[in-house]
Order: sequence, then C-alpha cells, then structure tokens
Amino acid sequence: MGIINVLSKQVAELIAAGEVIERPGSVIKELVENSIDAGASSIIVEIQHGGVTLMRVTDNGTGIQREDVRHAFLRHATSKISRQDDLDSIATLGFRGEALASICAVSKVSVLTKHKDESDGTSYIMEGGEEKSLEPVGCPQGTTFVVKDLFYNVPARMKFLKKDVTESNYIANLMDRIALSHPEISFTFIRDGKQVMKTAGNGKLDTTIYQVFGREFSAGLIPASYQFQGVRMSGYVSKPVSANRASRNMQMFFVNGRYVKTKTAAAALEQAYSGCILSGKFPACVLNLELNCSELDVNVHPAKLEIRFTNEKPIYDCVYHGVRSAITSYDTRRQETIPPAVVPTKPELLAKPSDSGVQMPLQEEEPALFIPPVSHFVPVQESPKAEEPLSIPTVDLSEHIRESEHFQITPQEEIDFLSQVTEPKPKKEIPFRYIGEAFRAYIILEYGDDRIMLIDKHAAHERLLYEQLKEKNPAAAPQMLLEPVTVTLDKEEYRVVMDNKELLLKAGFDVDSFGSGTVLIRSAPLLLEKLDITEAFLEIAGYLQTHRKIILSEKMEWIYQNTACRAAVKAGNVNKPEELMQLAMMLEENPDVKYCPHGRPVYFLMSKQDIEKNFKRI
Ligand code: ADP
Ligand code: MG
Repeated sequence: MGIINVLSKQVAELIAAGEVIERPGSVIKELVENSIDAGASSIIVEIQHGGVTLMRVTDNGTGIQREDVRHAFLRHATSKISRQDDLDSIATLGFRGEALASICAVSKVSVLTKHKDESDGTSYIMEGGEEKSLEPVGCPQGTTFVVKDLFYNVPARMKFLKKDVTESNYIANLMDRIALSHPEISFTFIRDGKQVMKTAGNGKLDTTIYQVFGREFSAGLIPASYQFQGVRMSGYVSKPVSANRASRNMQMFFVNGRYVKTKTAAAALEQAYSGCILSGKFPACVLNLELNCSELDVNVHPAKLEIRFTNEKPIYDCVYHGVRSAITSYDTRRQETIPPAVVPTKPELLAKPSDSGVQMPLQEEEPALFIPPVSHFVPVQESPKAEEPLSIPTVDLSEHIRESEHFQITPQEEIDFLSQVTEPKPKKEIPFRYIGEAFRAYIILEYGDDRIMLIDKHAAHERLLYEQLKEKNPAAAPQMLLEPVTVTLDKEEYRVVMDNKELLLKAGFDVDSFGSGTVLIRSAPLLLEKLDITEAFLEIAGYLQTHRKIILSEKMEWIYQNTACRAAVKAGNVNKPEELMQLAMMLEENPDVKYCPHGRPVYFLMSKQDIEKNFKRI
C-alpha cells in the first residue's frame, strides 16, 4: 500500500491557517484590513488577554450580503479580485481570500453583519471551521467579527504564544501603525476593558501622530513631502536635533496605505540624515509612499508585511531627496521649546488625552506641532562644546598649587588659578609637569624626569566618572529635575522601562508612567546635563529592550558606562589648562585607572631614552 495520504479537509485547513495566522496580532491585522477594504470610517478593536480569549473588530463599512456570508469564509473566496490580471494591480489590502477561512479553522468565530443595501442583518456562528448557525438579526450597517479561544484546537501553536502582555503589546503596536496608515479612519483600541488609543479620523496625519504617540514625539518632527519619478512621498521625519533614537523602531513606512518593512526606504532615510545625526542613532519617521499599483508586488509575504518594488531606485531617490530637503530647509535656530508638561502630583491621576475615552479637545490642546520649513540651512553637527567645564568633584588642589610655578600656562591663567587658593597647605610632590594639550584630545605631561605621558582626556575622564558612579560618589548622585522630562517610547521599550523601574532608580533615573507609551523622568544622574537626559534615557531603554536576558549587574554596569561616556569631556571640546591639570591630578590619585570602561588605554608613557634614540642622540 502506498504511503502518501491525502489529508482531511480539517488537517489541510489547519496547515494553511498556520501560514497566515501565527498569533493573535495576525487575526487583528486581517480583520482590520477587511474593515478598511469595506470602506469603514470607524473601526473599533477590542481584545482580552492578549487577544487569546477574545478579539472583537467592529466597523461601519459596507457589510456583507446574506448570500455572501458563507462564501466569505471559504478559502480563496474574495470579492476583491477575480482574474489573474487583477493580481497586477491590487488596490485593496486583502486579495487572497484566505484570512477568514484561516481564522475560522483555529478559533471560534461569529459575525454580525448588515449590508448597506439590505434591510436586516445576519448572524453567523462557526466553530473550528464548522458552521453552527446562520440567522437573520436586526443590526446597524457594518460588520462585527468576534474571535474567541484562538488555537483552542491547535495546542502546539498555543504553546508558542508569548505572555498575554507581549501579545497585547504587539497588537497595540500594530494598531498604532494601522491608525497612522489611515488618518481618515477613526480607530479605537480597547485593551482588557481600557481604551488605550483613539484617533479622530479627520484625515490629518499630524493629528493622528499626536493622538497615537503624544506630544513629545510629535514635537520632534518636521513635515516632508516630495514627488519624484512617479513616487509621491509625504509625512513627517525627525528634526535633525531630535533624531536620537537608539533603534529603528520608530521608522514607519506605508506604501499605498499598507504598513510595510522596506529596507530601501529605510536606507534612503538614514542616508539623508548623514552628517546631521550621531553615529549609532536613528531618525524616526512616519512616511507614506504612493505609487502606481503596477509598480509593486504585494503578493510576496503571507502576512503581506513585505512587498517588492518593480524598481527600487525611484523609491530610494524620492525618500532620500524628500527627507534631505526637509532637513536642510529646517532652521534649527527656530526650534520652539516644547511647552512644559503638566505634572500632576500623582501620576496615576493623569491620562493621555486618548486614554480618557473622549475625543481630545484638539483646538485647545493642539501643540505647536510642526515648524514650517524655511529656506536656509543650518547644518547640525556634533558641535564641540566650548569651554565646557569638566564635572569633576571639587578636589582640593591647593596642596599642589604651590608647585604650579612649573606649569606652562599663561601668566594670567596662572594668576586666576592661584587667586582661588588662599590657605597654604603642606607640600605634596607632584610627579609631573603640565606641558599642554594636543589636538584638543591629549594632555601632555613631563612625567618624572625621564618620561612623557600622553593622556586621552575623554578616556580618562570617562573612567573616573564611571568609578564615581560605581562607588556612589555624591557627585554622581541623582538630581531631582525641577521640570520632569517626558520621553515617548515605543510599546516594547515602554514595557521594559516599567519592568526595570528599580534598576533605573538605582542608576539615578526616577521614572513614572505618564499614560501609554510616555514616561516622566523625575530625576537623572547629576552627571548628565539636561539636554543629554532624553537621549541617554532613550539609549538605555533601547539597550534594556534588546538585552532583556542579561543579568541585572551587567545591565547596571552598562548604564554606568553609558552615563560616564556621555558626561565625560569629549575630544574636540575646549578645556582650560587648569581643568586638564586637575584631570591629570585625579588620574594621579587613582593609579588603578589605566583603561577606559570600554578597554581602551587612558594614557601611555614615552621614555626620554626613546625620544633620544629617535634624534640619534644615543
Ligand atoms: P480577502 O480580504 O483577501 O478578500 P478574507 O478572507 O479576508 O479575504 O475576506 C473574504 C471576503 O469577505 C472579502 O473579500 C470581503 O468580501 C468579505 N469581508 C470580510 N470582512 C469584511 C468586512 N469587515 N466588511 C465587509 N466585507 C467583508
Ligand atoms: Mg482580508
């Protein structure tokens, strides 16, 4: 007897469903896309327990005619295409006619729908792909899908589901992106009974961004629009100075209303920021690309998350030039200050506008969102901070000062420096003589009577600060911020930050939740300057998200290193000789400091003998 079995319909359905339905988020994506395709102007999504126990999607679209209801659930049954040629110009989000069949195979589904041309609606109940009932009911125009007990009949899949909160976050992220891809539709997202997102559906992308990601994120954006070789780009990108995210999570591209991952557009975006962004940092964007349907193939990924462009070049060029011109025409001197956030005494009393369940009063609340581009360009680069004082705890240098006769500094500087010293103290031998600084980076000392010492000022300072942080030196203690700083994170980062509140507190960051996705930083390590706090925090959040499994002490170590690195003086900074001398003294007092936290040497010595050899004296 042969060994090849023809699988039963039920097994075949389960296998096919596996491709499309991987997790609760896949169901939400398919159902919401159907609602969008049905022309809805309002879509409400509700989930319980990460969507595993319940998902409900309600729309006010066209509805399904009674005679079509059964068909809708058949595999390869779709109203969106009928001929092979149609595949070349797909304008709807769905087209495979597979989603409902797949969802049905792995859960208990019911649908309530009323078509716009019919007088009453239809209720249809399915379980594990089998019809339970189909009957007429009275209901308003539109469609409600209820999906219960996902994977109840596929235990293997069930096992692979992540924790409820992870699945919920995934869906929340998905909802953010879908809402952004259709500003003309009002989306409401209710998670375990709590409304966590609502968009106005007024067709404006800036309003939608504000409602989805909040004030702080929106305030960091500038508009960008462009048209090039049949591609139209429009949306918002980070202001060059605000482009400081630690990951690409906040780069969102939509192609013809579909959220997609596109490396081409991401590469063009990042290229456009070159020279205006620190290395290792990423810009954020919400960009729509519109092009002729025939220029892309959406049929390359089961969940349609990836698409193929017939020709990548126009995409790259349009994004690159569009973003570049947005950045270059943005004048950093016109940057507005973000109005201070209202800080309640109890954070839980505060809800983001979208949390309230009420449409937010945009007219009053609307922030001065985006600055209109102006014509001239001020390139933003990491400018050397002029005369920036080193944040070294005050060491009493007076004991060494009387030695300063041999410091080679200008007489005026010496007078200034000496005038700060009043009390003569017992002499202590300083083993070096300060000679100067090279390349605004290296301190040069004559060390003892037979060596030259070169100190990398950044590495030395960084290591010293790092040691202070670890020892909880008072200079490294947290500073209470007069005006707390608000930072918008993506859902995953937000969760990780909330999970690591204690660790962050130990590191000097006192954070509180400020409505979904946004946190309030009430204190930060004293070493950090105000301007650095947001950036440092975003980087830490990004790190915590990508290094969840790492042990606590290692995370702590990384945060100390990161803080020290930020707070330390940089090569290129202009420093006074006495500051550099002070740094050299500190190093002298900490003989164990030989390497920076990343392992690079802090100094090296050159012998007089070697120098003499070079001059052929010996
Ligand atoms: P596809 O979206 O690829 O056509 P689906 O299995 O997702 O396939 O849906 C099958 C059909 O059911 C759709 O083509 C559409 O006609 C109908 N349908 C599904 N959801 C809705 C909805 N929310 N409103 C109106 N029609 C719907
Ligand atoms: Mg569909």
